[in-house]
This record gives sequence, structure tokens and C-alpha cells, in this order.
Amino acid sequence: MEPSYSNKLDERKRVFVFDTTLRDGEQAAGVSLNPKQKLKIALQLERLGVDVIEGGFPASNEEDFRALEMISKNLTGPAICAFGRATKGDIEECAKALENAKKKRIHLFLATSKLHLDAKLKKTEEQALEMIYNGVSYARTFVDEIEFTPEDGSRTDLDYLFKVVRTAYDAGARIINIADTVGYCQPSEMYERVKKVRKKFSEEINSGKMSLSVHCHNDMGQAVSNSLQGILAGATQFEGTILGMGERTGNASLEEVIAALETRGDFYQTYTNIQTEEIYRTAKLVSKLTGIEIPINKPLLGKNASRHESGIHQHGVLANPKTYEVVDPKSVGWEGERFCIGKHSGKHIKEYLRAQRRGVFGQLKNYFFGKAIVTEGL
Ligand code: MN
Repeated sequence: MEPSYSNKLDERKRVFVFDTTLRDGEQAAGVSLNPKQKLKIALQLERLGVDVIEGGFPASNEEDFRALEMISKNLTGPAICAFGRATKGDIEECAKALENAKKKRIHLFLATSKLHLDAKLKKTEEQALEMIYNGVSYARTFVDEIEFTPEDGSRTDLDYLFKVVRTAYDAGARIINIADTVGYCQPSEMYERVKKVRKKFSEEINSGKMSLSVHCHNDMGQAVSNSLQGILAGATQFEGTILGMGERTGNASLEEVIAALETRGDFYQTYTNIQTEEIYRTAKLVSKLTGIEIPINKPLLGKNASRHESGIHQHGVLANPKTYEVVDPKSVGWEGERFCIGKHSGKHIKEYLRAQRRGVFGQLKNYFFGKAIVTEGL
């Protein structure tokens, strides 16, 4: 069976998309999805074309376990991933929840920064390595595809991080996920860190036995940039969530990373398996089921993402949308009104509208007509 990861360095690099909306996304404070809702989202993610769906943290609660079971039974495309600590109990729950999945992956994590080891785990670096080795080896007895994440990897001492990666790999992990768990890294640092890991393990990576992933958080608004830098530095997988949902200020917005990779394929030299026209529908579904609203200025998805009010921009877009839109709204399935008539509008949009329906607009406010909203008299 074809694995759901790769590190092939073809001319145009295939980037594998790992969706964690149902795990890290759901960990957003105040968000809770029941198994049926998770299945609904998972089916839409399958239509979107993601490569891996992380459905939950089965050892943490019964509902996540059931959701993973349902997703495993009903999906055939993406790999289904269960998340857990590097402990016997967690691994067994992951394996059980994934029993019926066609393609499966267990994703284990352990914090590796000095701060987390001392303050949270009260473990020495040596003890942590032992836990990683034992955990990954045990998980391998159930599932072939194991991903390991050094939690807080961006604040982990680099030499120790190398030992962690070596240990996880030796125990059988094939996907190594460099996590910027608290959104600490700056983009060029993320690039450097991934590059250094890539260089250190070039033999394993070039021979196809190890692949790198990045997992970035948005505490300083840089999750998308950091993910893209990771990809430029050699990661062939990134992890993200729909709408950038997740712990605190969230994860990398899956759709924004994809938009950059697809729209600027010339720059990144990458491609994905994503059906971009499904992006808007996916986001609407996630928004509806989680209650998280889509901000008006959200890239790709917000009401204003492809809406223009000022006269010069309206003139440009009427002549050729590419003048002011780098992402074709149709390409992401965006729905909305293209033009807003306000005090910044000029004669071109008015002529355009009059040509379509003469004389009606003079008296109307907030009038929706085709692709325009009239917010004041013309
Ligand atoms: Mn996370």
C-alpha cells in the first residue's frame, strides 16, 4: 500500500497535507465536536483531498475514541491518524480506535525542551529518550506508519533535538514533526532549524526512510509563514487546521498555506492533492459546527476577501480581476458579493450596474444585486 508520506525530491515537490482540525483544532478553548459532527467534517476533508486526518486523542476521552472509530470505518482516501502520548495505554487506545482504518497512522508526542522536561514532565533528557524509544517501538507493533513529534521542538536544544530524532527514527518512526508548539519561532529560524535537521539526517531522508513535517502555532501571527519556511527548508508535510483553529490563537491555517503553495507554485515548486474549490465549503461546515465565525477580512474566506469598494479597484477588477486579486475566488469556492458600493466607489461600477438594471438603485440601501451590495444611493 502506498504510504501517506514521502520525501521524494522530484523537481516539483509533493507536499502532504495533514489536517488536525479534529484534534488540535478541537482543542481550541470552548470548542467541542461530537463523533457524528467529526465524521461529517472528516468526509468533507476527504473531498477536500487532505492526505492525513488526525481525528482525535482517543486516550483523552471516550468521544474522541468513538469519533476515530467512525472515521476509520467510513473513509477510504486519507490516512487516519490517532494522537497520543508515548505511553503504553495511549498507544493501545490509538491502535484500537484505528482498527478498521484502511490507511492508519499513530502520532506520538513527548515534550523535549528543557523547560517542559523540568517543569511539566520532571524527566531527565535521558529518561525522555527512553520513553520515546519504548513508545515508538511499541506503536510499531500495531501500525507501520508512526509519526513522532518532539513537543516544543522549536525551543529544544538543537543537539538534543538531533538525539530525539535519531531515537524516534531508530525505534521505527518515519515521519518526524518539528513542532513550534507555542508559536515562538520566527520564520527564518524555522527555516534554519528544519534545514539543520534535514542536513543531519540527509542519508535517511534521501533514501526515503524519513520525512519531515512542520506543525506551527500562531501566537505571534506567524504560523502560516513558519509552515511555508519549513516546506522551503525541506519538510514534505505540514500540519494545519481549517480556519486556523487550535490551542490559544490556533494552528497554521491549512487553507492559507495551501493557497500560498498553489497560487505561488512558481515560487515554491510544490504541488498538493487538494481540491481547492472545496475550501470554502469545508470552512463553512467547520464554522457552523464549531460556532467559530469567519472574520470578515480572513484570507480567502472572509466576506471582504474578494469584495471591492473603492473606485479604482472596482474599475480594475471589472477590466481584469487579476489587477487586484491574486487568488481567483472561484478557485477556492468563495461565495459572496463582489462589489460594495460606498463613498469610495466611482463611476465604473455605477455604469456597470446601470447597464444591468437601469434606474433601480437610486433609492435603495443594502440592496443585493447579482454580485454587488449597494450601501448608499447612487
Ligand atoms: Mn499543536
